[in-house]
Formats: sequence, structure tokens, C-alpha cells
Amino acid sequence: MHQTLQKYFGYSCFRPLQEDIIKDVLEGRDTFVLMPTGGGKSLCYQLPALLLDGLTVVVSPLISLMKDQVDSLQASGINAACLNSTLNYTESRNIYRDVENNEIKILYMAPERLTMSHTTSLLEKVKVSLFAIDESHCISEWGHDFRPEYRKLSFLKRKFPEVPVIALTATATPKVREDTISQLRIKEGNTYVASFNRKNLVYRIRPKKETYNQILQYLRKHRGESGIIYCQSRRNVDNIAARLRKDHFNALPYHAGLSDSQRETNQERFIKDDVDIIVATVAFGMGIDKSNVRFVIHHDLPKNLEGYYQETGRGGRDGLECECTLFFSRGDRYKIEYFIKQKGKKEERDIALKQLQDMVAFCESTICRRKVLLGYFGEILEDDNCGKCDVCLQPRQKIDGTDEAKLLINCIDELGQRYGMNHVIDVLCGSNAKKIRDKKHNKLKSYGTGDIHTRDRWLEIAREMIQQNLIKVEGARYPLLKLNRTSMDIMVGKRTVTLTTIEAANVTDAEGL
Ligand code: ADP
Ligand code: ZN
Repeated sequence: MHQTLQKYFGYSCFRPLQEDIIKDVLEGRDTFVLMPTGGGKSLCYQLPALLLDGLTVVVSPLISLMKDQVDSLQASGINAACLNSTLNYTESRNIYRDVENNEIKILYMAPERLTMSHTTSLLEKVKVSLFAIDESHCISEWGHDFRPEYRKLSFLKRKFPEVPVIALTATATPKVREDTISQLRIKEGNTYVASFNRKNLVYRIRPKKETYNQILQYLRKHRGESGIIYCQSRRNVDNIAARLRKDHFNALPYHAGLSDSQRETNQERFIKDDVDIIVATVAFGMGIDKSNVRFVIHHDLPKNLEGYYQETGRGGRDGLECECTLFFSRGDRYKIEYFIKQKGKKEERDIALKQLQDMVAFCESTICRRKVLLGYFGEILEDDNCGKCDVCLQPRQKIDGTDEAKLLINCIDELGQRYGMNHVIDVLCGSNAKKIRDKKHNKLKSYGTGDIHTRDRWLEIAREMIQQNLIKVEGARYPLLKLNRTSMDIMVGKRTVTLTTIEAANVTDAEGL
């Protein structure tokens, strides 16, 4: 094992778990590997492929990913090939022939190719020693990246019961993990879960306000550094990339609306450090191995924590620090919620809504971000202070917020629970806006009672109260602030409220954006 590692891959030692996994695979056991991106999953099937007698078939969802892997294997003198839709008839026929003649050790293909009858009959003719299913979470509807063509892979254990399977993924909540294992009929015993803690990533959540300016300020302090700015829409990508160029930053866009060649060029230039910043939709990044990404900015709210973890995971591959900043607004949340409610089956909607809820809870959390994030993946972080997230970097104070809570609750009540957060807080802060005067809300008793705090502070208070379930939000398109039982208890003095605040003295210590 060590010799092969040295000879073909040029590494002197294994990364955590690699050796155990490879031993299991060599002994013919089915294995499930959950390892963060960059953890070194490929080696777990590539090395056994070389030691096992016969062919290793690798299932991978993306053509570009397969090509990269095959190129680098070939460069190391390993007989690898891939079957995909970009090959013409002759090219595919040649590969089929080479496989039949046992001239290929590792064969990559997309799942739909593996389920075709002429592929399975070919594989029945030769000796297959291992099936490796990369990105195996795609088999589960509970994952963020469900691909129906992966579903069919459950036929493998039926058709080739004696061939071991290794399934690998970088994203799986406990639920997705169970689902994947059972779909592929892998025995539970051989599951390897590496820690997902990326200690060199700094997580920060910022209010989504004057976002472009905040980004600009950050970039000015970090000129020449390499980074990714993720946006939800192509339009945002194009806008921001164009604005950054106008502001003399070296930035290029990346999204599915660009031509293949344009996308490839932009990605290539980013990887080669020819351009510093790539502004992209989530279409960017799968399989990208760029070591020196120093910041990952989420301009918009991601749809789920798996996606967020993956995207931020593209930073700091070299082990050096990477700043991950997400701009959060409830507005984004309702936008996504609205889109989710337009689509598909009820079960899909429910899954997506639950995932979004977890994403929002992460953003609004007043406990360590890392703890919440890892907790989502079923990993428990013992330490209460990671020292590398905005929550831990800015010590918070617990203060009595009963008076504030009462003011807000009274105001919501007086407004008949028929208004959103912004309007309620405008009333509370005594705003002179026309819509307030038109509705005669400046005549309410609550009007202006909140002028002890800034509007921003009130927004914070309201959010924390929602998070603590002291008030609630209802309505998807027009989210309204509403009261619940706890609000009543607070109003009548049966309950006190504790809020958290950042200690003023420490605010200036907070680096980042
Ligand atoms: P993953 O598929 O888990 O995202 P990769 O298999 O692409 O990760 O590996 C990530 C990087 O780590 C690659 O550049 C790979 O060459 C490198 N790598 C993998 N295993 C080792 C090892 N044992 N020693 C040093 N580098 C390794
Ligand atoms: Zn922390």
C-alpha cells in the first residue's frame, strides 16, 4: 500500500482514515465514506484499483470532474479512461474494446451510462473488482443535490452481488447518510466519517445592508487575494462582476447562462490566478481544487447548510485562513420560501423548507456558528468557543431585555398583528414616514416608545425574540409579526426576557468585513 502510494501518487503518508478505508476495500468490504471536500476521497478507491486484480468502475456525476481525474491518473502512468456523452462512436467503441482486453484499470462513467444494458453486459464479461460511487449523496432525495439517475444504482448489488461498493460523499446529514447506505445496500458496519470541522475557515454572518459597499471595503483591504463571491441569481452575478470591474477589481462571472467555452475560460483563469475574484452562482466549484482561496462571500442566502458548507469548503484548502462571510436578510429567506412553494411535490417542498429553516437558524444563532454547522451534520463540537466565528470573536453579554420585549409586543398588538417587522419597528422608533402618517400610526400609544435604541438594534432585538420563540413570523409572501402564548406571558409580567448583545468595547476588535 505504502509503496503504491509513493510510486503512483507521490505521497509519503496517508491522510486520516485513508489507510483504514483502503484496507477495508482491499478486503472486499462495502464501505461508506463521508469526508469533507479536499479530505482525499479519491485515493480511497484509486489506490485499491491499482492493487486489485480487475477493473474499478467509478460513477461520477460531472463530465468535467471525470476528465480532470482521468487526466491526472494518466499523467501518473495509470490506465484510466472515461465513458461520457462527449465521446464519438469510435472513441467509445475503442474504450469498450480496451476494457474487454483488460487494458484499463479505472473506468469513469456517469450513472446513466452504467445502467445501460450494453455497459452492464460488458461489465459482466470482464472482472470488475470494485464499484466506487462518488458524490453518492445524489442518490438521496434528502440531499441538496438529488439526481434521479443515481436512484437506479440500487441495481448494482442485485446485478453484481459479489463486487464490493465504496460510496463517497462530502455532504450528508445523518438522514442522507442512512438513506444512501440503504439505497446502495451497504452494510452499516463499514462507515467512515471524518471530522467536518474546517478549523482554518472563519465564519461570519453580516446584515445584508449596503452589501456591495461592504464587499468593496473588504476587497480594498485584501487586494490581490483570491476569492469567490456566490450569488443566487445569474443577474446578481453579472451585475456584481461588472461593478467590481468598474471599480478596478479583477473579477469574472460564472453561471450556467454563459457559453461552455466562456465558463471554462473564466474558471481556468481563476484557477491559474490570472484573475483574483470569481463571482458565481452555485454552478461554480464542484470538483475545483484551488488551494489559495482566501475568502468566500455569500452575497445572498444559500438554500441550505449542505450547500453553504460545500461552498465555503472551497476556501483555505492550503490550510491557511479563509474568511467566509454570508450576508443575511430575512427578505432573502422569504424569497427562497416563495420559490420553494411554487414547485414540485409536497415532500420535496417540505424537505426544502426544513433545510431553509435550518439555514436561517444558523444565521440567527447566538451560539458558535461552527457548533451549529457541525451539529447539523451530526458532529458534536465540545468547545464552546471556537475563536474563529463572529459569535465567538465578539463576546456577547446577556442582558435583561424584558422592557424592550414588552415595548415590541405592545406595538405588534396595537398594530393588530397585521404588519411586518420593518413597519412595526418604524412605528416603535417614531418614524416620520408618509405611510405611517397616512395610516395614523403616529397616533398609536407605542409610537416612538422605542427611541432608546437605534432602528438596527431593534431589528436585532426582534430577530432574537423570534429565534427565542417569544414572538413569531407568519405568512410567506408578506411575513407578519404575530404574538404567541409566551408574548402574552411577557406582556402581563409573568415572564422575563434575556437578550444577548455584543459588548461595545469589543466591537472594534472584530475584523473581517
Ligand atoms: P476530495 O475528493 O475528498 O475532495 P481529493 O481526493 O480531490 O479530495 O484530494 C484532495 C487533495 O488532497 C488532492 O490534491 C490530493 O492530491 C491530495 N491528497 C489526497 N491524499 C493525500 C495524501 N495521502 N497525502 C497528500 N495529499 C493527498
Ligand atoms: Zn465559534
